[in-house]
Amino acid sequence: MPSLRLANLIDGRLQAPRDNRWLDVFEPATGQIFALCPDSSPADVDDAVQAAQRAAPAWSATPTEQRARLLNRLADLIEARLEEFAALESRDSGKPLNLARSLDIPRAVANLRYFAAAIVPWSSESHAMETGAINYTLRQPLGVVGCISPWNLPLYLFTWKIAPALAAGNAVVAKPSEITPCTAALLGELSMEAGFPAGVLNIVQGRGPEVGHAIVEHPAVKAVSFTGSTRTGAQIATAAAPQFKKLSLELGGKNPAVVFADADLSDANLDTIVRSGFANQGEICLCGSRLLVQRSIYARFRELYLARVRALRVGDPSDASSDVGALVSQAHYDKVMGCIAQARAEGGHVLCGGDAVQLAGRCAEGWFVAPTVVEGLANDTHTNQHEIFGPVVCLIPFEDEAEALALANGSGYGLAASVWTRDLSRAHRFGAQVDVGIVWINCWLLRDLRTPFGGTKQSGMGREGGTEALRFFTEPKNICIRY
Ligand code: NAD
Repeated sequence: MPSLRLANLIDGRLQAPRDNRWLDVFEPATGQIFALCPDSSPADVDDAVQAAQRAAPAWSATPTEQRARLLNRLADLIEARLEEFAALESRDSGKPLNLARSLDIPRAVANLRYFAAAIVPWSSESHAMETGAINYTLRQPLGVVGCISPWNLPLYLFTWKIAPALAAGNAVVAKPSEITPCTAALLGELSMEAGFPAGVLNIVQGRGPEVGHAIVEHPAVKAVSFTGSTRTGAQIATAAAPQFKKLSLELGGKNPAVVFADADLSDANLDTIVRSGFANQGEICLCGSRLLVQRSIYARFRELYLARVRALRVGDPSDASSDVGALVSQAHYDKVMGCIAQARAEGGHVLCGGDAVQLAGRCAEGWFVAPTVVEGLANDTHTNQHEIFGPVVCLIPFEDEAEALALANGSGYGLAASVWTRDLSRAHRFGAQVDVGIVWINCWLLRDLRTPFGGTKQSGMGREGGTEALRFFTEPKNICIRY
């Protein structure tokens, strides 16, 4: 029997789903069921929304300092149990424990602390009119908002949404991915210990088409912040349209990493370029899966790059020496292996990886795929146009800056790009012209929480982060007074 049975958090109480149905939660490294997650229904969502509606007026009237204090208390409680959270996140998602410990959980803590701090000086704008009137703009909480998050960075993205929503004075109905529900459930328990009033934060676990859809469609939910696939984002936009709900959609990516001949190929930079493709098994929306390399250095770069990729250790995520863990689910493993087969069928040449990794012992049944590098595929092939979301990077040579830009922009997605060059003018020029929401020059995944985050084209709609998130979770109202 699985050792862990999760609960919903509704109206300040941990509850089983009304229908008493449960979903199996698998440990990707072993392929074994280790927890049960509520398979909630729209009736559970309705309970949560009603609890949130009851809680919203008092919460929105709570002084910002008090809201900030509670967010900080929750951050402290998570931080005090960082090791437990990290182990749970790694077990649930297959990501290396080291990564959960150094990135996912610290970032969840930072999200809560950042928005606790950001809400305090958040103030209204005012404009004096020469004709004897003054305008000021109130930014009022929306009431009840929905937050729906994916499986790849479970607590990191869950807190990225609930923190600004709560800080801004909204009551929240949140749904983590049913594939990785564990750390959000633990956070829910700690939110009660932190002292959040009942109904301010509700967590309804379950499947997307049932629970997620019910959140999006519920008439009392005024806005939805969603991170996940482009396909689901489109379904959410369609479902929300008749009610004109506010939407923030953070979707997929097929990001270019662009290496110019003048790039500083230091060990540290090469390590970062490798990491940008294979961190978290390539299961990060920001990973660079199209590696564009200037032809004059292509051969040398390929040699340096492949040596590093081959040295990555695929292994038990709980082992500190593992660089790459397991893919999140059997279905995702099958998808990624199918993408590699398709890359071969399209004429791609697999330079390294390309196969499943068979581990011994407790991980013998886990979903491990070797870091895979492919070359010989044009930018317009299926492989280079569709998100794989796994440890697969395609090398594509280019001649000059104009071609690099055309290739970088030759994608239906527009989330992020990284550019490697020592030419300052080129860095600025390329940064301005590449059609994405986030550009890293000579770095990757360096995140400042004050900056806007999001994508263009099929990578989404709207921006989160910093004041963008606080703007999203509030409604501006202008008041004009004549004197
Ligand atoms: P997904 O779209 O399958 O699921 C995301 C969440 O939406 C889950 O909680 C799921 O249960 C829920 N959901 C599914 N169907 C729904 C529906 N009809 N209505 C409402 N909710 C529904 O995505 P995933 O497979 O969990 O995550 C991987 C995807 O997320 C990748 O495409 C990746 O690029 C993207 N992603 C984007 C960002 C970003 O910031 N842009 C960050 C991380 C992941």
